Amino acid sequence: MYDLIIIGSGPAGLSAAVYAKRAGLNMLIIEKNPVSGGQIIDTYEVDNYLGIPGVNGFDLAMKFREHADKLGAEFVDATVTGVTCISKGSDTEAPVYKVATDNGEFETHTIILATGAHHSKLQIPGEEEFIGKGVSYCATCDGAFYRGKVTAVNGGGDVAVEDAIFLSRFCSKVYLIHRRDELRATKILQDELFGLENVEVIWDSVLKEIEGDDKVNNLKVENVKTKEISDLNVDGIFVAIGIHPSTDLFADIVECDEKGYVIAGEDGATSAPGIFVAGDSRAKRLRQIVTAVADGANAVTSVQDFMVGKAK
Ligand code: NAP
Repeated sequence: MYDLIIIGSGPAGLSAAVYAKRAGLNMLIIEKNPVSGGQIIDTYEVDNYLGIPGVNGFDLAMKFREHADKLGAEFVDATVTGVTCISKGSDTEAPVYKVATDNGEFETHTIILATGAHHSKLQIPGEEEFIGKGVSYCATCDGAFYRGKVTAVNGGGDVAVEDAIFLSRFCSKVYLIHRRDELRATKILQDELFGLENVEVIWDSVLKEIEGDDKVNNLKVENVKTKEISDLNVDGIFVAIGIHPSTDLFADIVECDEKGYVIAGEDGATSAPGIFVAGDSRAKRLRQIVTAVADGANAVTSVQDFMVGKAK
């Protein structure tokens, strides 16, 4: 029986692990991906985490993991398949939850959901068919395969613009396709993007279809204002149209908003007693490493407050 199970080992989960170990909690962190770090392991450069400008995302993730390891955090590689409440508890008794995984079942008094988010898909013809054959969701992971080639990025947020900047370093040409006439990305990224000679932004446009033979070679692009559809010959398309919270499994036990984010304030307390949420899967305004890390710390403090006076 654990005091706390943390599900997810991105910045929020690892921060929670550090705070939990320092608080003396008997805790377990369940990670699905054998490499800790969540979304940041695919990030080439993190330039807004205080004190370490320009750090590589993978390196930062390894530092986070080393910190948790140094304090003796217990990790298990497993995919959670369900969470059930065995005992609701009371003002004086801690609740008991069973966490089922593909690598055994675990019991705990409290849980921190730190499952983060995953890439949204376009859901257009050709997308599924060409994944790994010209369709990618990670420029940092796959960009090197496109040296000297023509690529496109779809999206207008920080990730899309960062991807386009990254790809411009080795692709002969990069198109950024965005559905509006202004980008959502931070100004500093936009300024860098607009200064690049081999990047062309295709405004007011959406992808209708991804075409190819054994690999992607063409995109059907629709101008949303004129409704005109044109061909864009590319060797690869990087989809960066945002993220979707990885919370489907918990929608029955904690209250979520219409987009699937778990509803909780800064303290991370969800609608289920003893279950807390931290990081990108929480309904909140700003999803950054620094806010995820702060969420992890806050959630552990809430776990400690919750357990005060409760018999285990
Ligand atoms: P995002 O900020 O939600 O941007 C998604 C982009 O995709 C938007 O421009 C959106 O268009 C577009 N889009 C959404 N659905 C679409 C569709 N079906 N077809 C075409 N375009 C579509 O997502 P993100 O860039 O992945 O970033 C996720 C979070 O991580 C954000 O909070 C971001 O700030 C954060 N982040 C921060 C940094 C940094 O600070 N350096 C780096 C990476 C990520 P509209 O603009 O028209 O809505």
